[in-house]
Amino acid sequence: MKLVEIFGSIQGEGIHLGMPCVFIRTQGCNLHCSFCDTKESWGDQAKLDMSIPEIVEKVSQYNVQLVVITGGEPCIQPMLQDLVDQLAIKGFSVAIETNGTQETPQGAWITCSPKEDADYKISPYCKPNELKYVVTSSFDAEKAIPSGLRKLYAGNIWLQPEGSDMVNMWKKCIEIAAADPRLRVGVQLHKIMEVK
Ligand code: SF4
Repeated sequence: MKLVEIFGSIQGEGIHLGMPCVFIRTQGCNLHCSFCDTKESWGDQAKLDMSIPEIVEKVSQYNVQLVVITGGEPCIQPMLQDLVDQLAIKGFSVAIETNGTQETPQGAWITCSPKEDADYKISPYCKPNELKYVVTSSFDAEKAIPSGLRKLYAGNIWLQPEGSDMVNMWKKCIEIAAADPRLRVGVQLHKIMEVK
């Protein structure tokens, strides 16, 4: 599997906020969002090319319960289901962060962050547990989060301030959430704590 990196940190976003974890960052993405903070994951020049057993062995060196597979876009990786299965066999809880355009594997917590680059569409094969929207100055909540999703994912929809203008985007998140109690304002705790 083509990877950018594997590293230990804390989960700074969403339902697993604050949990120690290992991040597996996969190589490659099918979108090119302007605010992307992991542009090093674009393209197909992988820094690491590891087999599933090698990845599981590396992850097992960390004393954590949670493994977060992120990208890039992890769900374009052909061996993703196998990786999820092998991590689960070792007793890890697995979470995946996806842009919603791809089929998601079974057995993992799915955080879906629909992107303007994809017109905020979610593939019928993507099965999210929670939704996360990056709030930028041009973010249009009415367009991005249709009423059907607000009803279906009530309480599990995060408004995430875009990191380069966090304070102003927080204010915007709060204004949007104040108009709909089904929405939640999120943080990027790792950025506030200045950890990776
Ligand atoms: S989907 Fe995520 S990784 Fe891909 S370009 Fe957009 S922000 Fe970056």
